[in-house]
Amino acid sequence: MKNLQSMWISNGPVESEDAAHLAVVNPANEELIACVPQGCAADADRAVEAARRAFAGWSALSPVDRRLALRVAANNMQVHADTIARTLTLENGKPIGQAMTEVGICVDMALAFGELAVHLRGGTQGSRLGDLVFQCQEPRGVVACIVPWNWPLVAGLEGVLPALAVGNVVVMKPSEKTPLSTRFMVEQCFGHFPPGVLNVLLGSGPGSGEPLVRHPDVDAVVFIGSEATGRRIGRICGEALKKCILELGGKDPMIIDETADLQRAARLAAESAYGNAGQNCTATERVYVARTIFDEFVAVLCEQARGLKVGDGMLADTQMGPIVDTLQLAKLERQIADARERGAEVVWGGRRLLRKGYFLEPAVLTDISADMLMMREETFGPLAPVIPFDDFDEAISLANASTYGLSAIVCTASAVRAMKALQTLDAGMIKINTLRGKAPGATSEPRKASGLGHGYGIEVMQELTRQKSVHWRAEL
Ligand code: NAD
Repeated sequence: MKNLQSMWISNGPVESEDAAHLAVVNPANEELIACVPQGCAADADRAVEAARRAFAGWSALSPVDRRLALRVAANNMQVHADTIARTLTLENGKPIGQAMTEVGICVDMALAFGELAVHLRGGTQGSRLGDLVFQCQEPRGVVACIVPWNWPLVAGLEGVLPALAVGNVVVMKPSEKTPLSTRFMVEQCFGHFPPGVLNVLLGSGPGSGEPLVRHPDVDAVVFIGSEATGRRIGRICGEALKKCILELGGKDPMIIDETADLQRAARLAAESAYGNAGQNCTATERVYVARTIFDEFVAVLCEQARGLKVGDGMLADTQMGPIVDTLQLAKLERQIADARERGAEVVWGGRRLLRKGYFLEPAVLTDISADMLMMREETFGPLAPVIPFDDFDEAISLANASTYGLSAIVCTASAVRAMKALQTLDAGMIKINTLRGKAPGATSEPRKASGLGHGYGIEVMQELTRQKSVHWRAEL
């Protein structure tokens, strides 16, 4: 069996109790690169027990000590950046430069959450002389972090780092499609943490993920992944009265009005719709363009799509890698076929490349109607349906006509319209004339089916603590 991966529990490799395993395949050439255990409830038990044993010691440390541990982790990530990024590209397909960027974001996050931990404050409330009323923040205990495959390191650490920073211990479960970079990173970069503080459980959702969520000794769950799994995990946590944060899918709109710089807007649209092969929760999946500039915009977007170099992420000149696996590719082909049947025109792309690997040309589609699958389901691939609008209010209502509400982009030179958009768009993150909405320390709360609870920032740290209110009178 090729390169069978072990889990990482109490700072050491641990074999699964279950002999069944799953293949990890390089999406750029369809070759098997490793096998991971399918995982089982007994594995989850061992990881949670290790974490629970570590809780008293880790939570007793001062935030300054935890910041130091996170700084060392950040430094280790820089030292191992090259290998971590190469492992990520092999299993996920993203171009190596983008994988390096992902590692860089992890470094920034480790430093930021270490710093935020030191500055996290409770507060006192007004009370009469001789009384003191204040808030204490306590870590929740064992936090389970369940992670998707599209940004395995960033999405993983988005839960892990704030949890650790405020004194929780963690069991993380990477996606079975991309477990290798996380497994390597945790062993190489977090090995100086006390044993049991951060553990990696491998396996599938049903194999080890769900037993982890259901485990009675898990106090909180941070889940980043699809709406369907999120709803299931939300139900389990609700039943058990367990804290849970859900960061789920999106169907992000982009609005481009006639005052926008058309060339720049088309570049942003291409980057947002095709970056990471469209496999971003905040990828642009619906492009609304003012009718007066529609034809010109479509032509420029097609140029952008045509110019993208699609290929193996290991090659330095690749700009867009493969789709992660055959299941995801089949979903995209189904959405394109459905759109065609319902009258859409594929103006450019959308064809599978005739070579090994799961490659799809980035696509531009027009003549779109709201009943098409690609307008109703999350796409999670490099497809850009472009839809004309006649006035800005109509664009806002079209953008809001989705069950999701993760983020949205608006390109306009009008401050009045930008203000209107940010006040009326029903999404957790609004980006005006830009793509990069996220910075370490910033926070947002997804709307509608995109999730529940704050991701990121000091607010996620607060969600991962329990507030205790203390009422104290000095005299008896
Ligand atoms: P997924 O829901 O299939 O899997 C996510 C994780 O959950 C994996 O580790 C999987 O093994 C695990 N899992 C599956 N079933 C489970 C169960 N019953 N119990 C416990 N764990 C279970 O999602 P995916 O395909 O890996 O990721 C893509 C999705 O993630 C997209 O919808 C994307 O929008 C979303 N996403 C959201 C954000 C965000 O911040 N909102 C970020 C990245 C990805």
